Amino acid sequence: MNKGAEVGRGKTKVLYQHPEQADSLVVVSQDSITAGDGAKRNVITGKGRLAALTTSRVYRLLNDAGLPTHYISGGEDEDSNEMLVRRCTMIPIEVVVRGVAAGSYLKRNPGVKSGTVFAPRLVEYFFKDDARHDPQYTAEQIVEEKIATSEEVVLMSDYARLIFDILAHAWRRQNVLLVDLKVEFGRANKEGGGTEILLADVIDNDSWRIWPAGDQALMLDKQIYRNIATPSTSDLDNVKAKYEEVAERVAAFAKRSGGFVGIIMGSRSDTPHVDRIEEELRSFAVPTRRHIASAHKTPVFALKKIQQLDNMLGRVVYITTAGRSNALSAFVDAATANPVIASPVLGSTWGGMEVVSSLALPGGVASMVVLEPENAALAAAKILAVDDSVVYGRVVMTQYRNRTNITEADKRLNAPPQGNGKAQ
Ligand code: 5GP
Repeated sequence: MNKGAEVGRGKTKVLYQHPEQADSLVVVSQDSITAGDGAKRNVITGKGRLAALTTSRVYRLLNDAGLPTHYISGGEDEDSNEMLVRRCTMIPIEVVVRGVAAGSYLKRNPGVKSGTVFAPRLVEYFFKDDARHDPQYTAEQIVEEKIATSEEVVLMSDYARLIFDILAHAWRRQNVLLVDLKVEFGRANKEGGGTEILLADVIDNDSWRIWPAGDQALMLDKQIYRNIATPSTSDLDNVKAKYEEVAERVAAFAKRSGGFVGIIMGSRSDTPHVDRIEEELRSFAVPTRRHIASAHKTPVFALKKIQQLDNMLGRVVYITTAGRSNALSAFVDAATANPVIASPVLGSTWGGMEVVSSLALPGGVASMVVLEPENAALAAAKILAVDDSVVYGRVVMTQYRNRTNITEADKRLNAPPQGNGKAQ
């Protein structure tokens, strides 16, 4: 990648201005590995390339999930340690999320057993200052010292939890426990004015603790290096082998499972309902295939379509719209071992009753009965998310936005009146 002037340097990376784009930087990961705030330092040839591979693969998943990040491109090739990122002003805070107790938490809280599960996950802040060994800060201190606004602190904490959740899911699919994680954020100029908070910096094998099968003895991360006072060449080779394994494993993070939703509609007149289901599924990055089939009039044809969808490579979840009766949902449910979500159209009849509410529907004719198209799509996406971290991430982000929409609405409702507050 063409690079302009050097604009900054960390312990394991160098930042360059992009030669043409003023709002982009090139991050070049270095071969150095450090611990104890830089007190111990070694060089592992190829580590920079492995750090860029790991970071870009992690960011690919987070970008695909819809999280605001600084990552644009690069690093994903086997031979590149360079990434293109959006320029932002870094907020000098390390945000640490802990799923289970380990590391410095245990030192600060000697009464707590290693591996204690945190629910909710713990978020801690450390002010970046090697000379003072990155002191722990409270949210109030960050605001008080004007390092970030209280709104920015809330966003950093929310994003850090979401990032942890999505990465923990990706690691869980490989039977690896994400123990804790350090992330950093920056402020970038928004189109049309103002600034926005972006996940920035690298996320590589230095940034987390990961324990295969939940067993600390099997750790794959930088802790191996931290634990050795004076590493020999063979120790460093061993560390490198773990970094190689991790870079290879994270290649699976954003790989799609090939899962899809098979929509079996009872009638062409269900089209507007199915369009809404498909639109929602698109927002979860879930592909669909739709068929019209009738349990009464074309049972052989309906069975053939179900068998075709069942026999595809990708996992299928069915949504049936069952326009006039519950027969189609019952038929599909009996014909397949895959999940079936019945989403009858409002106003249609279901077992002789007019459909007015999914709560009033008799169950037992599908894995699930969900009336509203948006909720049927969400239920299907959640099932496919089990083995697809992009879908999982989109579900997590959608639920986060749904929650913040409510809290924002409440904030507006209870906001103090505009102007001088005097009665007109
Ligand atoms: P602890 O506070 O227990 O030492 O670290 C918590 C988590 O943050 C661990 O996953 C650790 O790897 C990560 N972490 C802490 N400090 C740093 C740092 O200076 N750089 C990086 N890359 N990660 C850190």
